[in-house]
Amino acid sequence: MKINNLLINWYNANKRDLPWRHTKDAYKIWLSEVMLQQTRVAQGLPYYEKFVDRYPTVYDMAQADEQEILTLWQGLGYYSRARNMHATAKIVVDQYSGLFPKSYAEILSLKGIGEYTAAAISSFAFDLPHPVVDGNVYRVISRLFAIEEPINKPLGQKSVRTAVHAVFDTQQPALFNQAIMEFGALHCTPKKPLCTRCPLQDNCLALDKGLVDKLPLKEGKTNVKNIVHSYLYFRHKQNTYIEKRESGIWQNLHQFPLAEENLSPSQLIKKANLLIKNKINIEIGSCFSTTHLLSHRKIAAHFYTIFLDEKPIFSKSNIFEIDLEQMGTKYPTSVLTKKFLNQQKNDDK
Ligand code: SF4
Repeated sequence: MKINNLLINWYNANKRDLPWRHTKDAYKIWLSEVMLQQTRVAQGLPYYEKFVDRYPTVYDMAQADEQEILTLWQGLGYYSRARNMHATAKIVVDQYSGLFPKSYAEILSLKGIGEYTAAAISSFAFDLPHPVVDGNVYRVISRLFAIEEPINKPLGQKSVRTAVHAVFDTQQPALFNQAIMEFGALHCTPKKPLCTRCPLQDNCLALDKGLVDKLPLKEGKTNVKNIVHSYLYFRHKQNTYIEKRESGIWQNLHQFPLAEENLSPSQLIKKANLLIKNKINIEIGSCFSTTHLLSHRKIAAHFYTIFLDEKPIFSKSNIFEIDLEQMGTKYPTSVLTKKFLNQQKNDDK
């Protein structure tokens, strides 16, 4: 039996029942694909359900307030996905009368949609013959064909893409794409692939050559940058003071006034006094320190509590007052800041 048929047979017997597999609605398929980028299915599923419930059509999402979208997105990370998703919903409504474009090239031109997502939407929603190549597919194909070039280099990527086309099922593109991705996610896994009961044993060159544990190959490691965040958590009664982040991965999320450096006690007082224009008393309270890992960054974060005896007037006009309870509810914020707020709540108990 051919590889495509073996994969599809395996898929029909072993697939997970996931909501986006029951629809041909390009909007919902697009939502699921955006949410599952860099995210496990178990983590993305509740977000998918929440978004479909809150925004059942692309019109609902296009009209939504970005702050509300970011609030719903909190915890899923990679916030540029949410911002791009909102922008694309507006484009689909404004330029395509609310109907997702049906050609691969037009789908690819939308914001936040790369080759993988364009192939997924065009095959799942419109049955167009475009193979998807995600991390699972890279692994399965590089093992089946014993591709020994690093898959994070152009030569390895080209070899994998050529090999995918050789086994791709142009008659059943949606089914083939789902099958190979699911096979990689559940069967031909990064660690302990189920080779002893694999329907592709006779076709697998990595198994034949004893290379399963070595493939796929990756060259060089991602450089992780160490950075410091010192947050000034001002408190006056039940209120605190925040700003909207203007750039970076947490763009448009909210944070306590931030210094991207380590602060000694005297520097902290100087910084606080620089930010506050009126003459009021400040008292430094406790500091909560934690380490937060992102894909390319390791943040040493410090949250300094600073009590104020009067309402402050800030020298920066973008810092504004909120009720503490609104942080993370009305004003979306990062998982890092939520970690601090949860710690505060536990301390108050
Ligand atoms: S034999 Fe092992 S490595 Fe080869 S496709 Fe099957 S699970 Fe993957």
